[in-house]
Amino acid sequence: MEKSLDISVVVPLYNEEESLPELVAWIDRVAKANNLTYEVIMVDDGSTDGSWGVVKELKTKYPAIRGISFVRNYGKSAALYCGFDMAQGEVVFTMDADLQDSPDEIPAMRRMILEEGYDLVSGWKRKRYDPIGKRWPSKFFNFTARVMSGIKLHDFNCGLKAYRRKVVKSIEVYGEMHRYIPILAKHAGFKRIGEKVVEHQERKYGVSKFGLERMVKGYLDLISVTFMSHFGRSPMYLFGGLGTLMFLFGGVTALWIIIDKIYSQSHGLLWRGVADQPMFYIALLAIVLGVQLFLAGFLGEMINRRSVDRNHYLIDNKIES
Ligand code: UDP
Ligand code: MG
Repeated sequence: MEKSLDISVVVPLYNEEESLPELVAWIDRVAKANNLTYEVIMVDDGSTDGSWGVVKELKTKYPAIRGISFVRNYGKSAALYCGFDMAQGEVVFTMDADLQDSPDEIPAMRRMILEEGYDLVSGWKRKRYDPIGKRWPSKFFNFTARVMSGIKLHDFNCGLKAYRRKVVKSIEVYGEMHRYIPILAKHAGFKRIGEKVVEHQERKYGVSKFGLERMVKGYLDLISVTFMSHFGRSPMYLFGGLGTLMFLFGGVTALWIIIDKIYSQSHGLLWRGVADQPMFYIALLAIVLGVQLFLAGFLGEMINRRSVDRNHYLIDNKIES
């Protein structure tokens, strides 16, 4: 059998035609200088410019390139997911296509994985060359993500990361979850998560692919990823628990009101009709909500029984090594 590769570099790209030749030449240079066997996996996320043409052309010059292109734009997470699926290297890197991340960081990050025993090493753009409208929200997200996940990273969303191969094979990056891969990794059981300060550059060509909506999405995703890592495997524990509490509260209160009314009435005490008491309606509401919560728990459990379909991204083109 062929010796397995030292590194894979997964590059998600969406309309990045100008950057690709420089990026590939740079990765090739670094790999050769460090005697690393490598592959670059180009995942064209439905580009509408000439990116895929550039990838095919580069392939003729650099045989280490492999690639796939999607029929449409599925998003960075989908691109990473499919890239991870193809990766064969012992250490797998992800890197943005826009030359903001530096391939020069590869050898040191690889060393941290192989020699220092990390499962995942995330880049930290300590000095960042992005507009302020992006840096401040990002600080806030990183703080919240740190608190909610207990992972001490400064820069969850850094595009440059290194992984032990088995890590990328066992996490499912979906939706917009590429921002929270370290949380997914931790949840999958890979707890040795490290950080390395990396050089960051201003975008040289093209434009950023994420606008202001990233803040809303990032926030909602953080809630789902936190929820999923606590209750994803057993939604019944959360919904069933809350449902039971609600149902008991409503049931006991309603019963109390009814018994109290019957007792008072039959003993000639002052009494109020059951339907005249506001608390009775609150109790009824709690019973209904309790049942609903229970049902949500059951539905969650039923959905969990269905396996996740690994192949629901349509691949348009493929370059095999
Ligand atoms: N990207 C992608 N699909 C998308 C959006 C972005 O594959 O739908 C890629 C993009 O081409 C780049 C990386 O994800 O290689 C990061 O995107 P960008 O540089 O626009 O993000 P920013 O640096 O502004 O956070
Ligand atoms: Mg960028």
